[in-house]
Amino acid sequence: MDGLSELDERITGCRACPRLVDWREEVARTKRAAFADWTYWGRPVPGFGPHDASLLIIGLAPAAHGANRTGRMFTGDRSGEFLYPALYDVGLASRPTAVSADDGLTLYGTRITSPVHCAPPENKPTTEERDTCRSWLVSELRLLAPTLKSVVVLGGFGWQAALPAFTAAGWQVPRPRPAFGHGAHVVLPGGPAGEGLDVFGCFHVSQRNTFTGRLTPTMLRDVLRTAAVEAGLHPDGPAQGAAPYGDS
Ligand code: SF4
Repeated sequence: MDGLSELDERITGCRACPRLVDWREEVARTKRAAFADWTYWGRPVPGFGPHDASLLIIGLAPAAHGANRTGRMFTGDRSGEFLYPALYDVGLASRPTAVSADDGLTLYGTRITSPVHCAPPENKPTTEERDTCRSWLVSELRLLAPTLKSVVVLGGFGWQAALPAFTAAGWQVPRPRPAFGHGAHVVLPGGPAGEGLDVFGCFHVSQRNTFTGRLTPTMLRDVLRTAAVEAGLHPDGPAQGAAPYGDS
């Protein structure tokens, strides 16, 4: 078992935030009527994607009836229905849909994680919960560092959570801290591998943004494509068949 596999396993057993433990497990018990025949995951959701990823996408937290049900990031919810077609179109995913953890979806050179690994009530973790969960993100960044070249952060919450994690993992974050915005781009020098890290801001793929047109499919694809180029991937490359950028 490699370091990231071990980390993912440890994350799924975490019970450090009492409010989130109660909520994720209550949702898993009571379910939504449409998913009554599902056995909900009901635990922390680990990162998803190859362990040698050069591009990392950082979201917010699992959705109560999405990742908290399926056990995989952005899988089985409306946000994923917006994100995965974009990843597929840009050549970073093997298929445009994500419905369950065993649907065969593969990410190419790309990993998806979140700064809070448990579904929070109303999608709103507290500051304390965010800070408690940060150590998992720091560990994940350190383990990905040998190959990691660029990061897309979805939304201001993820941005605020990720910047201290980058610092703790060894990159140098400018002071004052760079502000979040869609299209924001900052290069962080340093890092455990001694290489800089390109960090991009993107509006979150939440319904509040996608239903209102604040984040359009084109806007998302543009950020992903730019970040993929910085990561040394080949956006718009083959999206089907053999994994071209790594297959773990
Ligand atoms: S949010 Fe993070 S720190 Fe809190 S219980 Fe879940 S995995 Fe653990």
